[in-house]
Amino acid sequence: MDRMPALFIGHGSPMNTLELNRFTQAWRSMGTALPRPRALLVVSAHWFFGATAVTAMPRPRTIHDFYGFPQALFDFDYPAPGAPELAQEVVETVKPLWAGLDLDQWGLDHGTWSVLAHLYPDADVPTVQLSINALKPLEYHLELARRLAPLRERGVMILSSGNVVHNLGRIRWNEPDGAFDWTRRFDEAAIALMAEDPGAVLKLVEHPDYALAVPTPDHFIPLLYTAGLAAAGEGSASALVTGYSLGSLSMTCFGVGADVAVVDERGAAAATLPPDVPPEQTNT
Ligand code: ZN
Repeated sequence: MDRMPALFIGHGSPMNTLELNRFTQAWRSMGTALPRPRALLVVSAHWFFGATAVTAMPRPRTIHDFYGFPQALFDFDYPAPGAPELAQEVVETVKPLWAGLDLDQWGLDHGTWSVLAHLYPDADVPTVQLSINALKPLEYHLELARRLAPLRERGVMILSSGNVVHNLGRIRWNEPDGAFDWTRRFDEAAIALMAEDPGAVLKLVEHPDYALAVPTPDHFIPLLYTAGLAAAGEGSASALVTGYSLGSLSMTCFGVGADVAVVDERGAAAATLPPDVPPEQTNT
């Protein structure tokens, strides 16, 4: 079996679940262009708590972990099956690091289903979530990612869902596609580092714009998983989608071993490029 790609998706607003825009269209294109996995292992920014756990129930529920959105979003259901055998495989694979089986607490949160609604709209790929252990240092997540890497050889697509830049306190509602200068600077630094040396992704913590771009670590840590997988495998992660939302969100997506069309900030017109071509070169 071929090695499965790994992805980082900048998920943005939960409303992306219901909208067709250039970001969600790009996610749809990825879903049809990439090889179909045996199962998905998803690291979502929205399961951020005090333990490392994997969902192990056969039918994970759809969790509506937000408020203030239209009823249609609360009515949305993503009935993908779980994969208890993959959950057990994760526990074994990451040893001696410890991961626990979650049989009845979590399910699929909107960090997962807002993206999978487009990547796999038929909800027919078995899906397991891995929590982000909020008590661990950033280095732990890179190490855990490296230990997960062998799963890619066994038909598992590892998908991280967060945002490189995520500062809800600075959102500008009147700038749907806008970005602050610091948003761009930090996002561009992440794109360069992921392409050249993803194992050194923690250099971003020293970036002068880190405090503004990453006021809380929950949406940033998923990027560390993609970086760790890239470092353990291809040695590079390419930006597949770039762009911004509401000033203080980056919608950038990364692929590791993902040979799909690149969508740049100007729209969905880019051609299919090999994954090692940086997105700047698509700006003609
Ligand atoms: Zn989110």
